[in-house]
Amino acid sequence: MKNNESRNIKLAIQKKGRLTEKSLELLKLCGIDIENYSERLVVSSNTFPIDIFFLRDDDIPEYVQDGVADIGIVGENVVYEKKAEIESLENLGFGKCKIMMAYPDSASLESPQDLMNKTIATSYPHIVREYLKKENIQAKIIELSGSVEIAPTLGVADVVCDIVSTGNTLMMNKLKKGFTVFESQAVLISNKELATDGNLETIKQDLLRRIRSVLSARRSKYLMMNVPKLSLEKIMKLIPSLRSPTIVPLADNESVAVHAVIPSDYIWNIVDILKNEGASGILLMPIENMIP
Ligand code: ATP
Ligand code: ZN
Repeated sequence: MKNNESRNIKLAIQKKGRLTEKSLELLKLCGIDIENYSERLVVSSNTFPIDIFFLRDDDIPEYVQDGVADIGIVGENVVYEKKAEIESLENLGFGKCKIMMAYPDSASLESPQDLMNKTIATSYPHIVREYLKKENIQAKIIELSGSVEIAPTLGVADVVCDIVSTGNTLMMNKLKKGFTVFESQAVLISNKELATDGNLETIKQDLLRRIRSVLSARRSKYLMMNVPKLSLEKIMKLIPSLRSPTIVPLADNESVAVHAVIPSDYIWNIVDILKNEGASGILLMPIENMIP
């Protein structure tokens, strides 16, 4: 991959599905705007040297492996199932799901050993095979590409192994959740040879830096509140701020405004104490980007 002409980096994302919107939203927060993408295979951005390819998620790992795309956003489940030789750059924190064993009400599945000699229907034969190998279990795998959950009703399998989020689909098919075989989320993956092209490597690192700043901002909130001076010392001890909080005197001379970046969910641990200590006007705001 040697050329002196610099070209855009090629990013593959899912064309239409559960990862599409979140992938585009992440890019937007990274300052990558695209327009009119619907029904097009490839779209470039005016604000970043990138061409975005819209593809079926199942094809993304292989395209990235073969260099058809330089990088991609896809579920870890698909990367693993396709056995793709790629480099995984970052977990993206969305598209979370589990691949689980599920079984009919009439059966029981308490430990992996209960799978011995059973027939398992799945769209993830490789993941299931690896799991059975790890647990040292002999079982038959039937590969189905969709509607895996009806296999027990049809009498073609004893157990199914499929993606579960809420469990509603399982319930509708009178199946119970068994144990988890694989936990997945969307990941950013890269072609392994990308680093040999200096220009593309630089673009990739720039994108990665932006993505990391968006992800760390998501994990944090900006807290603002007014605090009586008398309680300040006690309240400061409660705040696990990334940096030292900002303290601004207020006109009334008896209280101060405190601003701090805190972990997203932490406020619920301290809100009652803050109120008891006289904190008022508590505001918690999202942070779009956090640049280290
Ligand atoms: P495509 O047409 O691109 O092949 P698909 O039907 O295979 O689409 P989707 O159902 O859109 O794929 O799911 C894409 C990815 O989203 C999954 O591979 C998985 O990583 C993730 N995901 C998260 N939650 C769920 C869920 N509840 N059901 C299915 N996939 C989920
Ligand atoms: Zn798919």
